[in-house]
Formats: sequence, structure tokens, C-alpha cells
Amino acid sequence: MDYDVIVVGAATTGAVAAKKLASQGFKVLLLDAKPKSRIGDKACGDAIGEEDLKKAGVTLPSNVIRERILGADLISPDGKTAFRIQGYGYTVDRVGLGSALVDEAESAGAKFMENFHVDAPIIRDGRVIGVKGSDEITARVILDASGNKTRLRGTLPDEWGIEKVVEKKDAVAAYRIIMEDMKPAIEHGYLRLIFDQNTSPGGYIWLFPEGNLSNVGLGVTMIGKYPNPKIATENWIKGKYEGKIVAGSGDTVPTRRPFATMVGNGIVLAGDAAATVNPVTGGGIGSGMLSAKFAAEAVANALSQADLPGINELWNYNVTYMKEYGVKQAGLDVFRRFLIKLSNDDINFGMSSGIMDEKTVTQAAVTGEVNINLRKEVEIMIRGLKRPSILLKLRQMASDVKTAMDIYSAYPSSFDGFWSWRKRADSFFANLPY
Ligand SMILES: Cc1cc2nc3c(=O)[nH]c(=O)nc-3n(C[C@H](O)[C@H](O)[C@H](O)COP(=O)(O)OP(=O)(O)OC[C@H]3O[C@@H](n4cnc5c(N)ncnc54)[C@H](O)[C@@H]3O)c2cc1C
Repeated sequence: MDYDVIVVGAATTGAVAAKKLASQGFKVLLLDAKPKSRIGDKACGDAIGEEDLKKAGVTLPSNVIRERILGADLISPDGKTAFRIQGYGYTVDRVGLGSALVDEAESAGAKFMENFHVDAPIIRDGRVIGVKGSDEITARVILDASGNKTRLRGTLPDEWGIEKVVEKKDAVAAYRIIMEDMKPAIEHGYLRLIFDQNTSPGGYIWLFPEGNLSNVGLGVTMIGKYPNPKIATENWIKGKYEGKIVAGSGDTVPTRRPFATMVGNGIVLAGDAAATVNPVTGGGIGSGMLSAKFAAEAVANALSQADLPGINELWNYNVTYMKEYGVKQAGLDVFRRFLIKLSNDDINFGMSSGIMDEKTVTQAAVTGEVNINLRKEVEIMIRGLKRPSILLKLRQMASDVKTAMDIYSAYPSSFDGFWSWRKRADSFFANLPY
């Protein structure tokens, strides 16, 4: 074998995983289809939560921080209700961050190869033994961090149980522009998220401050005849904000529950390649880094147990990820599916009536649990407004969130229990009424 580990994709997930493995003395190749200077060049809101970074053990280099974030404002469609949620984070220079993380991986001992496009995995005798591109390179384990459009997972054997595609209904298409000296200026230190099911169905419009730059964009869930996010962004900005547009691009992001498994014989998946994104916010940098940490730990452990690790040796990655993030992600996927079906009227009502409040939203963001506030006076008001059916729907959703989290809390400790667990999880999600 040429390497202990080949990490495919050198963006935020891949570079973090490569650094962790190389610093433990493993022979690591980190490769990317892009040149090093463009690794971080990606359509993104550029926002990262501090808690996620801490959990992943990543320190941002100070020169890539554009703004310190103190919280977020969530605005109702009619603009009449705004929740201010406290929570620290940063907006960053993504291109600078991309190169800095690759530098860190190289300093830890990983070899970096730019401009190498992986076309497919090399599969032999029931295991992945390398990758094919302009050349063939082999390794004891392949760590796929090549994002949502990965070329690796689609050809893996079905019996490993790794999902091959993210369905459109479980993905968001998003577009963002970066504006210099935008007028009117947005408040520094706070992310601004606006819900409007007409402009950004199943998503939201965002305005994120980045020093003298502003990151403005929107996402739409890819259900039915969804609007083109580029046109929707440009139309929404027109007449509201002005400034010099310095960048504009779009991409898709998976917004679903965790993949049922992220390991095969000789391969693990992390970051967008494994759909580790927060289903409600669409934020995937921090959770991708977290998955990189857990994947790297499991791979290091597996390499010390077996010359050529298989599903059984690598399984612990699934177990740790599900416990630390997957349970929350599963609950949030139920919440997302409920939210995308709401009308603007429903959201205006939910936010103004107090059914949803800052506390509910903060708890959902931190733990994934959704505790709908059904105090006596709120119930009386809903009945008075002749919307009692909303009570039933909310109760059902909160209970479904809990069931989803219970299912993922009972994730099997080995591959032996996988298929029966998978049947239960798939059937629960297939039968959700939303
Ligand atoms: C418009 C938009 C806004 C977003 N805003 C935010 C935000 O504000 N905060 C947040 O946390 N998340 C945000 N996200 C999500 C976030 O961008 C992703 O979750 C995150 O970038 C995933 O990182 P990754 O390293 O797993 O994958 P990617 O960033 O997709 O990196 C994959 C890497 O693999 C390389 N690669 C791909 N295919 C191959 C191949 N065949 N061979 C070799 N190399 C390959 C690519 O060149 C790339 O460098 C946003 C997403 C979008 C689309």
C-alpha cells in the first residue's frame, strides 16, 4: 500500500481529518481536485459556531476571522416578530481558512497533492484499496471528504448499507453574493435570518456581516418546481440593498438525518460526503469538522487493530458520531420536515403567539429537542383563534422528534445489529406525515 490513509477532499472536513491522522504518525495523503489556493473557494454563508469548533478541537487562525458573532436574529415573514438568539461564533475568509487548514495538515506531516481529481474508488476482494484518477494510488483506509457530489460512495457494494444518493427533497439549493460596503449596512456581530416561504421555500434568506463585506443569500428546498436560488437572491436584493458585488456563486447542501452508516471495508465518509450538515440551519462546516475528528480517531484505532481494517474495526466511528451529533441531527430532520410545510401565515402566527420563542429555538439548536410552548394561555389563545388543529400537529411533531432521537440513541454497537435497526429507522421516517 502507498499510504496508511488517503483523504479525498482537502476542504474543512478533509484537512482537519488529515491533520489529526498525520499528527499521530500515520502516512497520510491529502488530495484535492482544486489547486491549494482555491480550496476554500466555495459558496457559503461563511459562518461557524464557536461551540462546534471547540468540540472538533479546531482553533481558527486569527487572520481568517472577518467578524466575531454574538448571536442571530430570526425574523418572521411579515417582519413583525424578531427573536434574538445568543450564541458565539465567527464569519470567516473561506479562501484563507482553506489554505490555512491545508498548511496545518502539511505541517503535521500529511503529503498534499493538488489538482488530483478522483474518478472512482478501486475496489478489490470486497474492500476499497485506493482511488483512481490520472493515476492509481492505494491505502489501507480511504477517508472520503469530497463533499456532496462525491464520486466514491455511488459505487460501493450495497451490502455495506451506505446510502448512495441524497434525494432532492432532502437537499437545499443555495446562492450567495458577497457585497462590499453594502447600504443600508446590517448590524455588526449578528447573523440575520429571514423566513419567507414565497421567496425561499423550505429555507431562509440570510444577511451575515463580514467586516466591510456582507454575505447575502438564500436557500430553497429542492422539492417540486423550486425557484432558482440565484434569480431569487438577485430579485430579493433589488431595491433593498446596494453595494459592489465582489463574488457570487451557488451550490447544493444535504439537509437530512445522518446516513445510516458511514463506514465500509477500507473506507469512511465524513462531512458533506456523509450528509453531516445541520438539517435546519444548513450549517455543515462545524459538524463536518466534528465528523472528521471522530472519523480520524476511529481510523487511527482501527489501523492499530488490523492491517486492513474493515467494517467491524471502523464501526466505532458510526457509534461515536450518532451519540455525539447524529441523535440531534435526526431530531432536527423531523423538525425541518415539519417547518418546510408551514405557510408564511403559520410562521407569523407561531412566532407572534409565543408557541415558538427564543427558548424553544435555542434548545432545538443546542440539543435537537423541540419543546413546543403550550402554556395554558397559549392554548386558550389558539382555541380562541379557531386554530385547534395546529395544537394536534405541534404535539405530534414534538413527539416524532423525540421518537427519532430515541431511535438514533439506540444505534447498534456493531454491524450485527445494523439491518434490523436500519429497517426501523427507515420505516419511521418513511411514515412521517410531513
Ligand atoms: C450557499 C451555501 C451556504 C452555506 N453556508 C454555510 C454557513 O454559513 N456555515 C456552515 O457551517 N455551513 C454552510 N454551508 C454548508 C457548508 O458549506 C458545507 O457543509 C461544508 O463546506 C462542507 O465541507 P466539506 O469539507 O465536507 O465539503 P466541501 O467543502 O464540499 O469540500 C469538498 C472538497 O473535495 C474536493 N473534491 C470534490 N470532488 C473531488 C474529487 N472527485 N476528487 C478530488 N477532490 C474532490 C473539492 O474540491 C473540495 O475541496 C453552506 C452551503 C452552501 C451551499
